[in-house]
Amino acid sequence: MPVVPAFFAVLVIQPALARGPCGTLQLREERKHSADASGRPDSVGYVDSAIYPIRVHYRRAEDADRAATVVLPAAEMAWEVEVDQMGWLEPTVDADIGGDTDRFDYYLTNEETAGGGWTWGPYRDVYADDDYYSIAAFVALDDRYITDHDMPDFVAHEFNHALQYRIDGAEATSFVWESTAEAMEELVVPDSNLYVIDIADFNDLPFESLLFDGYSDEVTAYNDYSLYEYGGSIAGLYLEQAYGTNDGTTLLQLWLDLAQGGDRTSPDYIDALALAGGDAAPTYEDVYLGLAEWRMFVADDDDGAHYLEAADWPRAARVAREPDLALSGAEAGVSITPVDAPYDLGTSYFDVALDADMTLPLHVMVDGDDASQWGVVAAAWQDGAAARVVKARAEAGAPLEVDLDLTGATQVRIGVANLGAPNLAAGGRHPRRDFTLTLTRTSDVSGEDSGDTSAEDHPDSPAPETKAGCGCATGSDPLGAPLGAPLTGTSLLAVAALTMLRRRNTHPS
Ligand SMILES: [Zn+2]
Repeated sequence: MPVVPAFFAVLVIQPALARGPCGTLQLREERKHSADASGRPDSVGYVDSAIYPIRVHYRRAEDADRAATVVLPAAEMAWEVEVDQMGWLEPTVDADIGGDTDRFDYYLTNEETAGGGWTWGPYRDVYADDDYYSIAAFVALDDRYITDHDMPDFVAHEFNHALQYRIDGAEATSFVWESTAEAMEELVVPDSNLYVIDIADFNDLPFESLLFDGYSDEVTAYNDYSLYEYGGSIAGLYLEQAYGTNDGTTLLQLWLDLAQGGDRTSPDYIDALALAGGDAAPTYEDVYLGLAEWRMFVADDDDGAHYLEAADWPRAARVAREPDLALSGAEAGVSITPVDAPYDLGTSYFDVALDADMTLPLHVMVDGDDASQWGVVAAAWQDGAAARVVKARAEAGAPLEVDLDLTGATQVRIGVANLGAPNLAAGGRHPRRDFTLTLTRTSDVSGEDSGDTSAEDHPDSPAPETKAGCGCATGSDPLGAPLGAPLTGTSLLAVAALTMLRRRNTHPS
């Protein structure tokens, strides 16, 4: 029996999980620079595929039939869909570095599987001459607690990790490993919907960064057992559904864009995100701001124009919001700072309580920390139609504002996104950045001076290009539009505040 390395002992067994965990991240963290090829799980026998180079090992003799009739067919299906249909590169051949054949190995085991599975391989570029960092990985699957029904999901998920190892085993951002594998699980096994369970953990913490994961101090400060990066499946599915055809090829391209020949960190996740949106979203800022929009439209908030299955997701999956903003009657102006300011590539959301008068548009202004670029997405839900959505972003230190037509609105939500410093890199620290959100009512959103960003009624459309070519909508002078409606005392104060904000924005320190 192989010795179980001590680092396995640090695997956290998470309580009260609705499904067993994937230990791939933890193993990568503990073993990523280990080229030690020992430590394969113990087995007493195996079964081989007649279709693909796949071998399924089992620890207990009584599992021979299950290996042949449950795991092996799931493994063949995962290979057929992910490799043959989607086009992912075949898993790295392990040859003499741990496997005893040129077959891809699965192990039914109880070794540190904690009710789930994991995928790992020695840190060694097997094909040193190509443009990938190709690690020969293998998969471990819990032989006690994964049900036959759930096995295809676990296999599809872990097999995708093995395909990720083939392309960029050196990739440093954990979020992209799990968010991709969990999304692929859904694309390969669309009827089981196991992925839905974890979405709440991602949408509970929208101000956290896409560069964090459930082991990051910033995330554990809120939830020691967050499955944040697994719920990140909706970041992967967003890429597939907004910019692809929901067939796995957009996520494959994301990984190809992460790849490099050595174990360098560049290109990184942000570089790959910048390419994922194509012409529709030509920068990582545009791609992220699109996600900031999509994750608002979940469960009861689905408007039929975003995720394919979002209406079926549980109410707990709705994106978390800051305390509601009241904007009614004489209180037609308000400024607020968030309780949970966003990290780089994080967003703070606000719901706006509606008053009876919906004729005046809502003017939204963001004054954020000059160290970051900022984005805003504002949505007005409507009965029987897609929500009206306005998005804009601005360079660091520049003013950011949009106007939202409230006609017929049944619900209004605003997201303020920290897009990070210019030329943001995935590595390094990603601190919180504070902002002030100011809302007033305006009399006109269609005038020439309004700076209307006009993404309305087209939730998928990117923010329009400006002369600066940044896709920003730096928008209006808040005092430039005609103010036809009488200003209340509070709104006058708000305008005065806007004037001061504008001054600060015009002359960044
Ligand atoms: Zn995983």
